[in-house]
Amino acid sequence: MQGEMRTYRGACHCGKVQFEIESTLDPANRCNCSLCRRRGAVMTRVPEDRFRLVSGEEFLSLYQFNTRVAKHYFCKVCGIYTFHRPRVAPELYGVNVGCLEGMDPQSLKVGLIDGAAYSLL
Ligand SMILES: [Zn+2]
Repeated sequence: MQGEMRTYRGACHCGKVQFEIESTLDPANRCNCSLCRRRGAVMTRVPEDRFRLVSGEEFLSLYQFNTRVAKHYFCKVCGIYTFHRPRVAPELYGVNVGCLEGMDPQSLKVGLIDGAAYSLL
């Protein structure tokens, strides 16, 4: 349940990339920046020590644009965005909530980050 700290297992669609987070999933957000509005994922952020890449590092592709500070990772086999390092908070991991086992993003209270307003995410 959102708001309760627990461990979630995450994976891309094909399962090559596996990760774990410890999170409350609160807040969960969508973003309207140029990348996120295309990607459409619901995301939540966790500190580095609450994120663990379990397997599949060799299947990750990195996408960067603009200032090239943010690091957007996706699985090169199935194409699914799994997690990223945000430009405005590179010490955190932004995670695709839809990759979390048993988690339906539509069951969450989802906010909006107005990434378009600062245009450089
Ligand atoms: Zn995959």
